[in-house]
Amino acid sequence: MRDGRAVIEGLRIPIHSLNTLVIGSGAASLNAAVALHDRGQRDIALVTEDFEGGTSRNAGSDKQTYYKLSLAGGSPDSPLEMAGDLFRGGCMHGDIALCEALGSSAAFLRLAALGVPFPHDRYGGYVGYKTDHDSRRRATSAGPLTSRMMCRALTFELRKKRIRVFDGHPVIALLTAGRGAGKKVIGALALDARRSRGRRPAFVLFNAANIILGTGGPAGIYEASVYPESQTGSHGLAFEIGAAGRNLTESQFGIASLKFRWNLSGSYQQAVPRYVSTDSNGGDEREFLNPFFPDLGRLTTAIFFKGYQWPFDPRKVAGCGSSLIDILVHRETVVLGRRVWLDFRRNPRGAAGSFSFDALAPEARTYLEKSGALLPLPIDRLLKMNPPAVEIYRRHGIDLSAEPLEIAVCAQHNNGGLAGNIWWESNIRNLFPVGEVSGTHGVYRPGGSALNAGQVGSARAAMFIAARYRDDPPPVSEFLRTAGARIREKILLALAMLERKAAGATTEASALEELRERMSRQGAEIRDPKTIGRETSNAWRQLARLKKGLRAESAAGLAGAFKALDLCLTQAVYLEAIKEYLYRGGASRGSYLVIDPSGAAPCPGLGDEWTFSLASPGSVVHDGILEIALDGRGKPKSAWTAVRPIPTGEAWFENVWDDFRNDRVIR
Ligand SMILES: Cc1cc2nc3c(=O)[nH]c(=O)nc-3n(C[C@H](O)[C@H](O)[C@H](O)COP(=O)(O)OP(=O)(O)OC[C@H]3O[C@@H](n4cnc5c(N)ncnc54)[C@H](O)[C@@H]3O)c2cc1C
Repeated sequence: MRDGRAVIEGLRIPIHSLNTLVIGSGAASLNAAVALHDRGQRDIALVTEDFEGGTSRNAGSDKQTYYKLSLAGGSPDSPLEMAGDLFRGGCMHGDIALCEALGSSAAFLRLAALGVPFPHDRYGGYVGYKTDHDSRRRATSAGPLTSRMMCRALTFELRKKRIRVFDGHPVIALLTAGRGAGKKVIGALALDARRSRGRRPAFVLFNAANIILGTGGPAGIYEASVYPESQTGSHGLAFEIGAAGRNLTESQFGIASLKFRWNLSGSYQQAVPRYVSTDSNGGDEREFLNPFFPDLGRLTTAIFFKGYQWPFDPRKVAGCGSSLIDILVHRETVVLGRRVWLDFRRNPRGAAGSFSFDALAPEARTYLEKSGALLPLPIDRLLKMNPPAVEIYRRHGIDLSAEPLEIAVCAQHNNGGLAGNIWWESNIRNLFPVGEVSGTHGVYRPGGSALNAGQVGSARAAMFIAARYRDDPPPVSEFLRTAGARIREKILLALAMLERKAAGATTEASALEELRERMSRQGAEIRDPKTIGRETSNAWRQLARLKKGLRAESAAGLAGAFKALDLCLTQAVYLEAIKEYLYRGGASRGSYLVIDPSGAAPCPGLGDEWTFSLASPGSVVHDGILEIALDGRGKPKSAWTAVRPIPTGEAWFENVWDDFRNDRVIR
């Protein structure tokens, strides 16, 4: 890496020139940097807004899952079968599914070799269990914090390889050259939070031949979220330069606690806690689920099954299904403005009777019986089935045996993201989105496949760059000539945000409150064609207002101000995608319900405003992949693309070897 300096708008700005800049420090970015180094590309650096931030390092669940090709036992499995399971989720390209399946064993075994404690038996078998949408037992787990352990192992490698890290450097712009199909990324502009003083901001420029973007999911656009607070996302960086989003409509939502963000799946629901709602002050307590279930047995069975069926799924609503609970929690919190709690201290109570194990469906009762958990209270049952599940709350200052737990239906993962090819290169050349920011998944995906996709994708991006994009970046003078106007535009925006007077200006906090409330009401688990157009326009209007009126109190506050702008743009593009899907007649699928006056009500007692129907195959809107990108004037353009099938046909060894020896594979 060559270090230089330039003076722009009176500010002295360091410039680092290098082959590849990796943005982000989650599991995907770390793996990309380490893999590039392994492949001989040493002219690299990693830049992150917070090395300890992000989802991989700070999120987990009951048993955080890593999905991989079967590596134990006698049941048959193959990359093609695994690709088939990924592909069957719908709206996923077959060639990408095949890459994720073929790359799975290598990525997994590498993590195991680096010391991630994935359990194996005495013969070396990485025995698996079945996760959702999994036809085999491909899932494994290193415990509740699998992804944190992956980050630890990869960070150790990063340090060992002495890869340079710029921590505390939020990237606020990607820089490009060229137009149309020839457009390519040439660098990035970051703030240096640690050198910013008073009202004088500090910037850093990267003159990079390639950028690997691992900035994670768009967590910061939602009010109700189980992503860690430190994860906000930065899709706006890429949308701004014309990178295409793919399947942006497809995210996962489910019930999680708010004070400490944690998924309430598995034993938290199998213990059959009591759901109550209160007014905003905690008064007027009601068992709000009761009126919508015919009896307590059906209600407690639905609560139990929420354990296995955690993400909201409109296919699991009818007949008092477990996802009816998510709708009722959404109605209580978002529509009625009340607060909802899980109470492990008391059993659910019905109007016509009290809790009884005999009223549960046989499968649920047998499960509790076999677990030795036919015990008086939910907390007793939870402690019996999964003591660490109680302990994790205790470590975060919440005693489940003494207080109720506030919950909501929260955003958890984005299956869609930025579009890429089989080497994870986006439509903007030399820009490689990896990890959750990359939209490789479709409508449904096996649990744990996010971590697999992040590792395989980042390794493939590194492989491509090391083989094909080895060049040095251009001289600094040429870089500044090409990107100068855009760099100046961002610096002037920063200075303007610092100069704005408090009176009449918008703060970062109020901007975020407005956009998050909008997204959780309109763009999350419940979507309404009647209101989506108005709300999408509101998002664009808010962005225009923020550009003119957002204020940063100090140079240290600029990172937050730029983030608010990024999130507002991200939200507007996500809502555009949702609008396009709904206006084309898209129906309920994945993890969201689309209000449809000609559909059926979720249950008796929920009025006409909740009717919906399920998506059925056979139309462009349900079978095609929606891509959306901003044109040169910043206007969103949508395109429906056909799903590419899984490549078939037996590859003949001699032919592959010939291609391999003659360097015709990576292209
Ligand atoms: C509660 C929960 C449970 C989950 N459970 C599972 C599971 O069991 N199995 C599974 O496969 N997946 C699971 N996931 C999803 C999975 O954990 C994530 O998809 C994955 O960890 C994302 O990794 P990443 O490297 O792409 O991004 P992250 O780990 O989120 O990292 C993003 C990085 O980018 C940095 N960054 C962002 N913007 C900027 C910027 N502008 N400039 C510089 N740096 C920036 C951040 O600081 C961070 O370092 C779960 C997610 C949640 C929230």
